[in-house]
Amino acid sequence: MGMDKAIKSVVIVGGGTAGWMAASSLSKFLNGKEIDITLVESADIGTIGVGEATLPAIREFNHYLGLDEVEFIKATNATFKLGIEFENWSQQGESFFHPFAGYGAPLDGVGFYHHWNRARHLGEQSELGEYCLATQLALGNKFAQPNLQANNPLAEFNYAFHFDASAYARYLRSYAEKAGVSRIEQHITQVNVEPQSGQISSISLQDGRTISGDLFIDCSGFQGLLIKQALHIGYDDWRHWLPCDSAIAVPCTASEDLTPYTKSIAMDAGWRWRIPLQHRTGNGVVFCRDYMSEEQATDQLLAQLDGAPLADPLVIRFTTGKRQKMWHKNCVAIGLASGFMEPLESTSIAMIQNGISNIHQFFPFHGINEVEIAEANRLNDLQYERIRDFIILHYQATQRTDTPFWQHCQRIELPDSLKHKIELFKERGHFARYDGEQFEINSWLSIFTGMKVYPKYNEMAAENMPKDALLQQLAQIRKAINQGVGFAGSHADFINKHCQALAEA
Ligand code: FAD
Repeated sequence: MGMDKAIKSVVIVGGGTAGWMAASSLSKFLNGKEIDITLVESADIGTIGVGEATLPAIREFNHYLGLDEVEFIKATNATFKLGIEFENWSQQGESFFHPFAGYGAPLDGVGFYHHWNRARHLGEQSELGEYCLATQLALGNKFAQPNLQANNPLAEFNYAFHFDASAYARYLRSYAEKAGVSRIEQHITQVNVEPQSGQISSISLQDGRTISGDLFIDCSGFQGLLIKQALHIGYDDWRHWLPCDSAIAVPCTASEDLTPYTKSIAMDAGWRWRIPLQHRTGNGVVFCRDYMSEEQATDQLLAQLDGAPLADPLVIRFTTGKRQKMWHKNCVAIGLASGFMEPLESTSIAMIQNGISNIHQFFPFHGINEVEIAEANRLNDLQYERIRDFIILHYQATQRTDTPFWQHCQRIELPDSLKHKIELFKERGHFARYDGEQFEINSWLSIFTGMKVYPKYNEMAAENMPKDALLQQLAQIRKAINQGVGFAGSHADFINKHCQALAEA
């Protein structure tokens, strides 16, 4: 295939979350363009089957496809997610919440955090989370839709979902197939690369067929069938920054406790997650083999389940890091084929979205274009690096040094970008914003404050408000938030009513 040949066919390799998200999204994006889309997946290999907690960006993706939210919730047994509770992270026995929301409201044009920080210096005891409706709803196991019309910052927050990843892939598959995507269920035995151009020309299937294509999307999971095995694109190994290298996942029966949030509970050498779905609860542990054996991790995980296990524990080994190029010639990798970071902030599906949006933006309608590929790779690298820094922050800012693993974390040499951010924040609470941030200032504030990392000084502009007026305003905000929580019903009731409405429609 020449470099200037227009794309007429797209072949997606893999039918996990990445493959079906790419297929459904491209079927919409390329609608009416006379470009064929084929997806190949293998039932023998299957999908990784974990990946149940998302970020609010998933709502934008569903909206782009035109999915009905209630229908989606029913199809995927989804629950709402207002954020993540971090338990035993700052210290054993303590917890804090990272909401998809901000805190308070600006007062006199100065960011709320600066007022809170000043009040804290004046001896105010209230926690930052008391000024966030989403946090307070979550901790009361309540849910309500944000009221964006109220023009009241206290009522504004975002939410995401926990869902059954396999059911989501099936749901997207039916969407994509209806939109004309062809699906082939076959084992791929060979990837054929043209010697001169170095481009992928076709894939060979076990049944003897050869599927040729102009653009290949590698969604083959950790093995990277195209990007790694056929094109030999290297991998940046980030284990010196994020030492966890293994996970064990096990679903259990649903408990009564339908929390509208993910739980992340720090352990001796890693952490474990709890993700409530309507029909079951997802659980898993992420750990570092240098400090914890597979057996210890499994035993600790099984001992903490709040339901009966529904499957044997699934052991997954991973290397944190990213492919040196997500896009090379006529092959783009997304999902696990492009890299992996532990699911501490549920970022992988959002990164799949980012990969897909790069494909949309730089889709080679006029042929493969090196400048555009370079830009897609640059944007992808930026997003990976920003998320990496945010995840490292959790391991760096903790006060835990009670086990060899947590002591090791304190010795990790930070990337300069993160070091600068932390040092800047510790002065007056300012935020160094870089391009490509997935997590904005409120998320960083949640982690800093939750881990008890505070600025040394007040922001001067916040000192203009008289002390009494400040304390009064803070009390008023807390009152308004408590009232808001009082109006909301339970998360479980909200889901039942929401889904009921669909059944009756
Ligand atoms: P896979 O699901 O592995 O799919 C690979 C596909 O390629 C399959 O269809 C397979 O059949 C096909 N394939 C492979 N080889 C061949 C072949 N030779 N022939 C034909 N087909 C082939 N993400 C989140 O956003 N939130 C989370 O909470 C979260 N938790 C996670 C927890 C853990 C422990 C792990 C490991 C990941 C987690 N993730 C999470 C990430 C998430 O699971 C993945 O990003 C997501 O599932 C995408 O996977 P994938 O589609 O890239 O790969």
